[in-house]
Parts: sequence; structure tokens; C-alpha cells
Amino acid sequence: MKEYKEEDFLMLSGIQHYAFCARQWALIHIEQQWEENYFTVMGNIMHENAHDKDFTEKRKSVVITRGMPVFSRTMGVRGDCDVVEFYQSEGGILLSNYPGTYQPIPVEYKRGKPKDHDADALQLCAQAMCLEEMLVTDIPKGFLYYGEIRRRIEVLFDEELRKKVRDSFEKMHQMFARNHTPKGKVTKSCKACSLVEQCLPKLSKKSSAIAYLQRNLEEEE
Ligand code: SF4
Repeated sequence: MKEYKEEDFLMLSGIQHYAFCARQWALIHIEQQWEENYFTVMGNIMHENAHDKDFTEKRKSVVITRGMPVFSRTMGVRGDCDVVEFYQSEGGILLSNYPGTYQPIPVEYKRGKPKDHDADALQLCAQAMCLEEMLVTDIPKGFLYYGEIRRRIEVLFDEELRKKVRDSFEKMHQMFARNHTPKGKVTKSCKACSLVEQCLPKLSKKSSAIAYLQRNLEEEE
């Protein structure tokens, strides 16, 4: 099985950008452009709250750890888990300082509400696949917590989702190695895109990206 060198690792969280728009991922991770907008600022604040680094506590029989660094040599990625909950379970893994064996379950915090695309599920599944590789265990599910609805949604890590994670990282590595930013296609996603001003003038060769976006979306509808 192919293994990536650490210097070639990509940011795990980039998979949510890639799933949203491959061009957005390339602009951020290859061309290093980043425009803070409302969505990303709010997202970062929620992440800072969830990422109380090195924090581990035990509530009843569940050990909870925040900001746990994870990586995968086979996928060539590194990142952090917002929260990993370890449930006492027979046949689980050993934890130092805690008696018994435990089943790890990743939990990712999101600002908004569940979306009609699978970017969040892909990110969570990628975290679980890293944990599986690091801890030599199986993780069948995780949870996405959405701030707007204030509850968690269960995500099952089936083979289809896992394949999409592996395929996405493989394509991201290929694009990164070729230093290739794909051409953009104006979609409804562009309305909530943090890079609309950097991206669309390049697409449209016109000064007002917002006007261009508005016109194209109206034509599309
Ligand atoms: S503006 Fe649209 S095409 Fe450009 S990066 Fe954002 S989502 Fe992708």
C-alpha cells in the first residue's frame, strides 16, 4: 500500500473545501488565498471553543478529548479532531490512565445546520479513518454537531463514504503535485464562498465579481 512522506501531507480539513468546490480548495491550499467572511469567522470561533487543546476529561464512563492531532500515512493527511469520545466497550482499545477498553467516536462541531452536500460527513469520516490507522481499530460511526439546531447527527462510515474520502485525497494530491488550480464553474455555492472576490474576476475578467455572480445565477435559475 502506498504511503506518503510527512512533508507531503495535506491538511485533512481541506476535504470539505474540495467537496464544496475543487477550485476553492486549490485557491486556499495551493495558491494560499483566504478571505475571512462571516461564515468562516463564525466557523473558526466555534472551532476555537471546541479545540481546548490537550483537554481530556471523563464523564461517567466516557473519556472525552479535544483537539486531538490525527494523521494518515496511507492518505497523506494530517489534522485535528474537534472532539473524540471514548466509550467503554469490550474489545475496544486501551487508554493510558483509564482502566478498561474503549471505542473511539469522533465528533465535529459546525456552525450552521445540516447541508444538502456531504462535505461535513467526508471530513468526519476522514478523521475516523486517520484514528483507525493510528489506533489500529474500527470506527463505524461519528457525530456532526450543528450549532444552529443545537444537536448532533449520526454519520455512518460506510464503504461508499470511505471510498469518496480516499478518492478525494488522491485527486487533491495529484492537483497539489501538478500545482494545478482547476477552472471554476459558477454555481449556487459561489454565493456562500469565502473566495468569491478572488475567484470570479479571474473567471469573468470583469471588475465586479458579485455582479457577475448575480447575473449568472439569475440566468441559471
Ligand atoms: S466562487 Fe464559486 S467557483 Fe470560485 S472558488 Fe468559490 S465556489 Fe468555487
